[in-house]
Amino acid sequence: MGKDPGWNFDNSYTRLPKSFFSNQNPDPVRSPKLMILNEPLAVSLGLDIEVLKNEEGTEVFAGNWVPEGASPLAQAYAGHQFGHFTMLGDGRAMLLGEQITPSGERFDIQLKGSGRTPYSRGGDGRAALGPMLREYIISEAMHALGIPTTRSLAVVTTGESIYRETELPGAILTRIAASHLRVGTFEYAANWGTVQDLQILADYAIKRHYPEIEGAQNRYLSLLEELIKRQAALIAKWQLVGFIHGVMNTDNMTISGETIDYGPCAFMDSYDPATVFSSIDVQGRYAYGNQPYIGGWNLARFAEAILPLFDENEKQAVKLAEAAISEYGKLYQANWLSGMRQKLGIFNEEEQDESLIEDLLKLMQKHQADYTNTFRALTFDRQEETGLLETKEFSKWRERWQTRLSRQEQSKADLHQLMKNSNPAVIPRNHRVEEALDAALRQEDLSLTKRLLNVLSKPYAHTPEQADYCTLPASSNQPYRTFCGT
Ligand code: AMP
Ligand code: MG
Ligand code: MG
Repeated sequence: MGKDPGWNFDNSYTRLPKSFFSNQNPDPVRSPKLMILNEPLAVSLGLDIEVLKNEEGTEVFAGNWVPEGASPLAQAYAGHQFGHFTMLGDGRAMLLGEQITPSGERFDIQLKGSGRTPYSRGGDGRAALGPMLREYIISEAMHALGIPTTRSLAVVTTGESIYRETELPGAILTRIAASHLRVGTFEYAANWGTVQDLQILADYAIKRHYPEIEGAQNRYLSLLEELIKRQAALIAKWQLVGFIHGVMNTDNMTISGETIDYGPCAFMDSYDPATVFSSIDVQGRYAYGNQPYIGGWNLARFAEAILPLFDENEKQAVKLAEAAISEYGKLYQANWLSGMRQKLGIFNEEEQDESLIEDLLKLMQKHQADYTNTFRALTFDRQEETGLLETKEFSKWRERWQTRLSRQEQSKADLHQLMKNSNPAVIPRNHRVEEALDAALRQEDLSLTKRLLNVLSKPYAHTPEQADYCTLPASSNQPYRTFCGT
């Protein structure tokens, strides 16, 4: 007998009605190899790092060995993709089970790229090494930035090739999530399940993510209200760091309020609300500046799905749901404004703060200023960073800002600290991520990936070593492009 790996499964999802999932074992792969393991995350899950690093761990992450207590399944869900409703489901992912951590928390352990499922449609059920490492890097960076997100425990290569436009090395990512319940899970239940199924799902989601509303008067309305709060807070956080999700379909919006699906995402460099990276988002539906609106659109789809559970008659129920949805915009704006105040070192609230912020953003857009570096320069009062800061317009704005700052009690040291804590020194810049992936793909050399992850793990530390990761890429006439589904 080897050492106890620490698996401690309790698979509540398997106790839902059968229509919500399909039991499905991962397809074994030829010769798996562990590329990267998230040791601190493994420890927090109660797993033994030494076991995970040896063959047993690799076999589990590859789907070749199902650990004791796991009960692999693919989840059914639907979703609005670019506005169009369709049946989906885990086409290349499998939930191994729910790990109960030493502190009693419950996390989904999911393999992504583990083979075909009943929901694969024409897909091969597989994933490529580049995108799985990319998800690992960006999701861990998001976590370090303080943004709720699914996390990445490990990436293994499969020893098998997958075929897209070219032949690519296959890989599997082990994803950790508070759950994989999505707005699309509710849409699935509403369209293909009974009202009873829908109610079971809603009660399950409440128990798992919103236990405080279990006893509420109209708990399904409360569920809608609480989800609206979490998504408003989440999307404001994305905007504040310049994160562009890229594919905000309703199947990619979680009920837990975590960011999920790192396919076509990327961070914005120069500030422009129209920024889009995804190669398939030709209309700019999921552009940076459109994300808050899309959040509201998705939440309206959620409201439609759970409406049959409201106690009231349909007319009244619709009214209540509409009132809840109309709160979303206000909540989003309040979250965003308070985050922006912090980025500018503002502690108290004044009415003109919003125009002060908007005017800075307008100047950033006009002068194509780098979003992250502009706030970093303001934090350290550096003038030399970008073209914008040398302009007359900016000097005028800066005076307004300084006058505004003088109208609060806090010391200079306090506001500097607030700004340091609110403006990351480093984000996963596209050229740095590509550079790391390139080394990993060409030479199986993970040293750049690990160094990047290390720098990204303390984005608010503002250490001298991080300066190297703040520089912009050499200018290129090729816009950066991202892809889903590889
Ligand atoms: P996404 O755009 O990443 O949210 O994926 C949309 C849907 O396509 C989900 O149901 C995925 O499971 C499915 N999918 C993506 N890639 C594959 C693949 N290679 N094989 C099977 N299904 C896939
Ligand atoms: Mg997805
Ligand atoms: Mg995806």
